[in-house]
Amino acid sequence: MSPRRNFRQLIGPDRTGHFGPFGGKFVPETLMAALDELESAFHQAQRDAAFRRELDSYLRQYAGRPTPLYFAKRLSKTLGGIRVYLKREDLLHTGAHKINNAIGQALLAVRMGKRRIIAETGAGQHGVATATVAAHFGLQCDVFMGEEDTRRQALNVVRMRLLGARVIPVTSGTKTLKDACNEALRDWVTNVRTTYYCLGSVVGPHPYPLMVREFQSVIGREARRQILQREGRLPDELIACVGGGSNAIGLFTPFVKDRRVRMIGVEAGGRGLRPGEHAATLVKGSPGILHGARSLVLQDRHGQILETRSIAAGLDYPGVGPEHAFYQRTGRARYVAVTDRTALDGFHLLSRTEGIIPALEPAHAIGYLQQIAKRLPKRQLIILGLSGRGDKDVETIARYLEKA
Ligand SMILES: *Cc1c(COP(=O)(O)O)cnc(C)c1O
Repeated sequence: MSPRRNFRQLIGPDRTGHFGPFGGKFVPETLMAALDELESAFHQAQRDAAFRRELDSYLRQYAGRPTPLYFAKRLSKTLGGIRVYLKREDLLHTGAHKINNAIGQALLAVRMGKRRIIAETGAGQHGVATATVAAHFGLQCDVFMGEEDTRRQALNVVRMRLLGARVIPVTSGTKTLKDACNEALRDWVTNVRTTYYCLGSVVGPHPYPLMVREFQSVIGREARRQILQREGRLPDELIACVGGGSNAIGLFTPFVKDRRVRMIGVEAGGRGLRPGEHAATLVKGSPGILHGARSLVLQDRHGQILETRSIAAGLDYPGVGPEHAFYQRTGRARYVAVTDRTALDGFHLLSRTEGIIPALEPAHAIGYLQQIAKRLPKRQLIILGLSGRGDKDVETIARYLEKA
């Protein structure tokens, strides 16, 4: 295959929404028309300079972009002389990268004339981001959240309510994120004429994986410009945590054609890689269909979705974006898993060396870096995606430390 064609394939999807064998649309017929409508609205918006200007203005004025690319000097020193830069998505409004996507999709909802916006949420970060933009644009907002998660993440439930959103606890299945996704899709089928479904990661049926990637790629576009300015060269390695995969794809995409830049996604290894004890979908999953797309899935022999476990609620999901499955298959990116324990080590390391308390999700990436740092050549240049801040996790950590 010529390099050129190879590149084009790498930055899919094709017309049917496939990244190689992954992706597509596997939804009830009533949603096919809605997905087509969404796709054409998205493509029109992308071509419209006024839309791009408006999006850019909200990202700057409301969300706080561009975020710094921060050279973590003491962390680098502690890790033995590699050079680590942190892309500081933790400094954004509402505390994580989720707001990039929520603003983009809310603008699209307004443009499409929808007055009601719905979302699924696990840890509550995407729910909070969606409730925030809904308040800003004056849209009615309903957020589906597993009942179990409403208990674990009570603070985010209060935040969403303060912002004027209705939080609907989901009591089916394991009462967690995958069940909230099912419920949001069900609501969308019923109310598709008036309702916009704001999906929170690069998962779900086409065009969501494409659309969310495009809204999150601002992370990598900025980082690429910033590292060239600071170091005069591209990084050797990009590292980011992977739940559904949106912050990782957002960082990776603008570097995909730079073949020398290695890309590593870090998944949640939970309490170890036995079935039901982790959420490492790329490391341990097999091909299957979940929430409207073909990707890798954590499932048993009969195709039943397995339970997942992670100390980081934002990584606790049995599926993953189809583009990551494709990157893994083509070898363009590599995926690893680390345990809760390693993530906690990363959490403490960053807090104490840099005075930055990370969210537990990117703490997985830091923990992984700590594990491999000794084996890396000195002066190795690394960009690590710091997807969110740790305020939301303080209670979880306190409980974990009590038990330990
Ligand atoms: C939601 C979340 C994640 C996981 O989602 P991705 O789509 O994989 O990025 C990671 N970090 C933080 C801080 C989150 O809130």
